[in-house]
Amino acid sequence: MTAKESTTSRTETSPCLQLQDQYACDVFNIKTMRTYLSKGVFNKLMSTLKLGRKLDPSIANEVAQAMKQWAVDNGATHYTHWFQPLTGSTAEKHDAFLEPDKEGNLLLEFTGKSLVQGEPDASSFPSGGLRATFEARGYTAWDPTSPAFIKRTPHSATLCIPTAFCSYNGEALDKKTPLLRSMNVVSKHAARVLACFGRLGVDVVSNLGAEQEYFLVDRELYKKRPDLIMCGRTLFGNVPPKHQQMEDHYFGCIKDRILEYMTAVDHDLWRLGIPAKTRHNEVAPGQFEIAPTFEELNLAVDHNMLIMEVLRKEAAKHGLVCLLHEKPFAGINGSGKHNNWSLSADGLGSLFSPGATPHENALFLTFIAAVIKAIDTHADVLRASISKLGNDHRLGANEAPPAIISIFLGDQLEEIVQQIKHGGARSSRSMGTMNVGVDTIPDLPKDTTDRNRTSPFAFTGNKFEFRAVGSSQTCAWPMTVLNTIVAEALDEIAGALEPVAGKPEFRQTLQNLLQDIIVKHERVIFNGDGYNDAWVQEAERRGLPHLRTTLEALEVLDRPGTLALFAKYGVMSEAELKARKEVQYEIYVKELAIEAKTAIDMIETQYMPAAARQVKELAQTVAAIRASGVGAGLSAAVATLEKVGGLYEQLPGILDTLRKSRTQGCGEIKKALAEARRVVDLLEKATDDALWPVPNYDQLLFV
Ligand code: ADP
Ligand code: MG
Repeated sequence: MTAKESTTSRTETSPCLQLQDQYACDVFNIKTMRTYLSKGVFNKLMSTLKLGRKLDPSIANEVAQAMKQWAVDNGATHYTHWFQPLTGSTAEKHDAFLEPDKEGNLLLEFTGKSLVQGEPDASSFPSGGLRATFEARGYTAWDPTSPAFIKRTPHSATLCIPTAFCSYNGEALDKKTPLLRSMNVVSKHAARVLACFGRLGVDVVSNLGAEQEYFLVDRELYKKRPDLIMCGRTLFGNVPPKHQQMEDHYFGCIKDRILEYMTAVDHDLWRLGIPAKTRHNEVAPGQFEIAPTFEELNLAVDHNMLIMEVLRKEAAKHGLVCLLHEKPFAGINGSGKHNNWSLSADGLGSLFSPGATPHENALFLTFIAAVIKAIDTHADVLRASISKLGNDHRLGANEAPPAIISIFLGDQLEEIVQQIKHGGARSSRSMGTMNVGVDTIPDLPKDTTDRNRTSPFAFTGNKFEFRAVGSSQTCAWPMTVLNTIVAEALDEIAGALEPVAGKPEFRQTLQNLLQDIIVKHERVIFNGDGYNDAWVQEAERRGLPHLRTTLEALEVLDRPGTLALFAKYGVMSEAELKARKEVQYEIYVKELAIEAKTAIDMIETQYMPAAARQVKELAQTVAAIRASGVGAGLSAAVATLEKVGGLYEQLPGILDTLRKSRTQGCGEIKKALAEARRVVDLLEKATDDALWPVPNYDQLLFV
C-alpha cells in the first residue's frame, strides 16, 4: 500500500471525519436554513431569532415549505409540535404530511399555519386548574430559538417542532413559556446593569450545561423488579457488602458493554446537534454521567430532555434499562443533574468571569453580588423548584447536598468578598481591603477538582453550579426560578446605580452597594462540608430555610411574596404559579400512592410466598433432624425457622398498615413503606438466595 492509499483508507474509516458530516444532520439549523430558504426570508428569520420574537406571519409559509422539504428529503413522513407539559416530560402528537386529493393522489402539505400553531387536544395534560374542562384545547406556538429536528427509529422519521404550549387565554400550560419569559427578564436587567458600567446595548443570554447522572441495569433483571418498573426505584433491597466504599468505580475503566452503549448514545445525540462531550463512570457501581458542552439556556433545556430520551431508548437496544430516578437504590449514591448556569454577553464572555482590569473586576463582583443577594433572598423558592418525591430521598442523604440552599464561593473569592465587606475608598492601599473598580483581583483558578461537591450551589470559576437538581427533573423550572430571582436582584442593583452612572460618585456608590449586599446576605455563603450534621444546626442558627420535604417546599410557591415576585417580572401570573404548585402536589401524591400499591403487590405476590417456601423448607429440615435421632444442627435449624417464621408472621400486619395508610395521607404512607422495607429486607437476609423472588442489589448493581 502506498502512503497515499493508506491515508485515504484511514480517512474513509475515521469516525471523527464521518462525524463531521453527521453532526446535526437531523437538525433544521441555520446552516440548513440558508440552503433551503430564499435570502430575504432567511434574513428575516435570523432577525426574529436574534430578537427572540415570534415568527413573522408573512414568512411562515415559506419557512414551513422549506422545513417540510428538508424533512421529506431526510425521510420524514410526519410532523409534530414537540412540547413540555407540566408533567415535566415531553409530549408529541404526530400528523402525516400526506393529504389525498380528489383524484386519489397524495400531496405533501405543511402550511405556515400548521407550523406556527398547533391545537392538540390537551384535556389529558395536567393544567392545575388553568384550563376549564369545557376548553379542552391547548395551543402550541413554534419557538424558533430552538431548531426543529428529526426523530428517528429504524423505520420512522418525524419532524419535531419545539413549541410553547398555552391555553386559549394565553396562560402557560408548559415549562417552556415561563422559561423563555425568565430568560428575557434576566437579560433585560443584566443589560441595565451593564449599561451603568458604560456597556450600552449589549445582549445578555443565560447559558446552561447540564451534567446528567444515571444508572444502568440489565433489562432481564429489571423485568423481574415490579418496583423498578412501576416506581423507577427499588422499594426493597439490602446494600451489598461491597458497593462504593472502595471508590473504584468513579472515573474507573468503562466496561465494553457500557462503552458500546455510551457510543451509540453519543452518535444519536450528535446527529441531533447535541454537543455530547463527556462520559464517565460515577461514584456508585452501575452509575454513569454524560455532559454536553453548555449552550443557550432554552436550547440546553430542550437538549437535556432529548438526552434523557436517547439514554432510555439506546438502553433498550443494548439489553439495558436506564434509571433516571434520583434514588434508585437505598444506601447507594443517588443521581443528580448539575445545572451549570451563567450569564454571558457579546464580547464579554461569562459575566461571572473576573476579567483582567479593575473595571472588569468591578462588573464581575457586581454580578456575583447579585447572585448572592438573589439566592439568600429566595433560597426557599429555589429549594421549591427542585422538590419532587424522588429528590426528597436524595437531598441530605449524606451523599447529596442537604435541602438547605447555600452558596460555595471558594477560598479566594470568599476572601475578596470579605475584603469588600471591610473595605472602603479611604483605605485603598491598605492590606486586606478591596476597592471595587480600583484594585485588581488576583486570578481565581477554576476549581477543577470538584472538591466542593457538598454544596448545593457552587461558584466554579466562571459559572455557578446548581447541584441540588434531581436527575429526572427538567432543568426548565429550576432555571426559570434562578433567572427570575437573579433578575430581581439585578433590577434593584440597576435601580441604585442608574442615577450615578457616568458620574464621579459611581464608584463609591457601587462600593457601598456591594458592601451592603454582602453584610446583609453573607449568611448564605458556606464553604464548609455541607454533608456534616453541624452545618444543619449552623444553617438553622443563621436563619436559612431548611425545607426537608417536597410538601414543605411546595408551600412556598403560593405565598404572597412568591406570587408577587413572579407576577412583577411577568414570568408567571398568580394563576400560572398556583397551577404549578397544584400539579407538583398531585404528582407527588400519585407517585407515593403508586409506591404503596406496588409494595402491597410485591409483598402479597412475591415476598409472602417466598417466605412461606422458606418456612416450609426449614420446618422440613427441623422435622428431618428430629427424625434422624441425631441432635446436631437442630438448634440452628430451629433458630432460623423461628427467625424467618417471625418475620413471615409480621407481613400480614405490614400489608394492613400499608393499605390503611393509603387513606391517611403522605406521611403515613411513607412510614408504612419504611416499616415494610425494614421487615422485607430482614427477610431477604434470612432467606436462601435461590428462594428469593426478585434479583437483589448485588445482581442489579454490577452490570
Ligand atoms: P466538571 O463540573 O465535571 O468539573 P466542567 O466544569 O468543565 O466539568 O463543566 C461542566 C459543565 O459546565 C459542562 O456542560 C460545561 O460545558 C459547562 N460550562 C462550562 N463553562 C460554562 C459557562 N460559562 N456557563 C455555563 N456552563 C458552562
Ligand atoms: Mg460539575
